[in-house]
Amino acid sequence: MSTWIQQAVARGRLTTRFPWAPPNEEEAPITAHAPEVPPPATRTLPLAAPVCPTGAIESEGVRQGACIRCARCLSHGLTPTGPVDLMASSIALLRSPSGLRHEPPSVRSPSPGFRRSLHVFLIDVGSCNACNREALGLANPYYDSQRLGIFFTNSPRHADVLLVVGIPTREMLPSLSRTYEAMPGPKAVVAIGACALEGGIFHGNPHAALPLSDHVPVDAYVPGCPPPPLAILSALWRVMRGPPSREGP
Ligand code: SF4
Ligand code: SF4
Repeated sequence: MSTWIQQAVARGRLTTRFPWAPPNEEEAPITAHAPEVPPPATRTLPLAAPVCPTGAIESEGVRQGACIRCARCLSHGLTPTGPVDLMASSIALLRSPSGLRHEPPSVRSPSPGFRRSLHVFLIDVGSCNACNREALGLANPYYDSQRLGIFFTNSPRHADVLLVVGIPTREMLPSLSRTYEAMPGPKAVVAIGACALEGGIFHGNPHAALPLSDHVPVDAYVPGCPPPPLAILSALWRVMRGPPSREGP
């Protein structure tokens, strides 16, 4: 028996059980600890705000969509929250203090047309490529998004979901609009990564054309830099089916 087969037999099943079972300890989570400003804010904000590389810390709190989870602020007075959901249906929720924790697990307008399968077209409008790698990794044998009916497609004409990665640049806006218009309905848009949400480490770039929702209607936002694959898979699953079920297939 070859070494590869022996290893496969010894390891057993490797594919994640998500969404039929909670992620195990070795998996990247679908939740994260987010920084928040403890009261009194006047004591911590002046210390923490200058060390934040994305300008995410404001007087009202931390803009979770802009936060890249670098943890610099945690040594300057901010504190980590408990686990928060890594998906929101609006940027406004991500801008409100601890907005992610209060987000119901649904998207803006779940479509009954997505009940059985979802074809996803990824468009890079200005990324560093890390978000792309995490998203496309969903098709590998570990995440195996195909077992859930979630497939990547190479044509927007076959796509139900437009997965947007990277900071929207003015140069890419015509391509973004044409791609969205080429998709048949019903269709949805999922934005992943701090760059697509709020600019991330590229915030303030003069080529940025934020917010993304000015150009395409966004149904779900997944923060992170990059977001964990299971958070992306969870968002696509919710777009297709609604809240994840704990029951098996
Ligand atoms: S980007 Fe880094 S410094 Fe800024 S709020 Fe997030 S964890 Fe803190
Ligand atoms: S959010 Fe982070 S990982 Fe994703 S494209 Fe921007 S810099 Fe890269």
